[in-house]
Amino acid sequence: MSETEGRVFNIQKFSIHDGPGIRTVVFLKGCPLSCSWCSNPNSRKLKPVMMRDANDPNVFNEDSREYRLEEVVRVCLQDEPFYEESGGGVTLSGGEPLVQHRFATALLRELRAHGIHTAVETTGYVANAIFAKALKHLDLVIMDVKHHDFDAHKRWTGVGSDLPLSNLKQAIEAGTPIWARIPVIPGVNNTLDDATAFAEHLQRQGLRQVQLLPFHQYGERKYELLGWDYAFHDVPTLHEEDVEGFRQALEAAGIKASFEPPGPGGSAVAS
Ligand code: SF4
Repeated sequence: MSETEGRVFNIQKFSIHDGPGIRTVVFLKGCPLSCSWCSNPNSRKLKPVMMRDANDPNVFNEDSREYRLEEVVRVCLQDEPFYEESGGGVTLSGGEPLVQHRFATALLRELRAHGIHTAVETTGYVANAIFAKALKHLDLVIMDVKHHDFDAHKRWTGVGSDLPLSNLKQAIEAGTPIWARIPVIPGVNNTLDDATAFAEHLQRQGLRQVQLLPFHQYGERKYELLGWDYAFHDVPTLHEEDVEGFRQALEAAGIKASFEPPGPGGSAVAS
């Protein structure tokens, strides 16, 4: 891992779901979690993985390649006028973008130096010192809260929730705006009791607002292309109406919950 080169599996332009305004999203390889419902399974390994070509089942292609820092910066700067007009910017995503923390932090620093709004979609599962360095160059932290219970978090994602929560605290203390999100997953965290427990959990962390991300099947095809097993193969997609009761239970327990992002004020309780 270096400051000057990083492994990227996608650069998506004109995104409107990964932070405010129109954004370029840079997807970095590597993730320390193993969420059973993951929709980017190829992102988990830092090394490239082979995916079957969608047009030719006999052909396999690498899912990613090395990019030099200046190349990613150049691509991101191409859309600067759109960022300015829409209040957008650049979001690093993954995987867990801070697995490649030297590259990610250098990229954030460079983008900030060009006056670009920076955001990260992070699991928070990264050493506190690494998170602190990235935080210095971030305008927004977008973090999924995957479970309210430590043991269940570990069972479904492969890791405990202590590190993400300590980094969430760091971001709150630094005054960096936070968008907290709950991926609502059938059989994992989607009962009304879960909603009430999430509300208590979020309030303990100093959060007052959350965005709900109902389970989808966007990743199903990737498992096929990878030839990997997928535990959520037959699980139906959740629609907003399926999650409305869950949303109302959160609200009844004191957390503002929506299918939209938290907005300019962010999720954290103002200090
Ligand atoms: S944190 Fe995201 S990328 Fe990593 S395993 Fe979970 S869903 Fe997949």
